[in-house]
Amino acid sequence: MIRCGIGYDVHRLAAGRKLILGGVEIPHSRGLEGHSDADVLSHAIADALLGAIGAGDIGQYFPNTDESIRGMSSLDILRQVTTLLSENNACPINVDTTILAEAPKIAPHIPAMRKIIGQAIGLNESRIGIKATTNEGLGAIGRGEGIAAMAIATVEQE
Ligand code: MG
Repeated sequence: MIRCGIGYDVHRLAAGRKLILGGVEIPHSRGLEGHSDADVLSHAIADALLGAIGAGDIGQYFPNTDESIRGMSSLDILRQVTTLLSENNACPINVDTTILAEAPKIAPHIPAMRKIIGQAIGLNESRIGIKATTNEGLGAIGRGEGIAAMAIATVEQE
């Protein structure tokens, strides 16, 4: 059986935080704020994977009220979600994503993101799409107040 799931996430940009996207630290004046490392791309992918098997969302598994996971790497979230999929006889076969960010430039970092996410979810990087766009100055994303990401995951389940 082939199943699909979608994911979306957004985090605010704040001073004094590292900017982590797709597991890659990107030099920037601000970083994303959140309970974990606030990696919006990894969060959107995790939700898409969970959605594909009807298993809820990452907030259920990694609540921002859980102090024990404060600052956790979102690559660990992806690894744990992938384990949950395999416990449900499912594995990812394709992921496609779009990052919405006014700044910084994302494109130079995409090859590294594909490799790192591929390792986290056990998928060849050729099956991981990462695209980036600005929001053309429109709305909160366009004003550079935050960064958002969308993802779609295709999963094969026995
Ligand atoms: Mg998030």
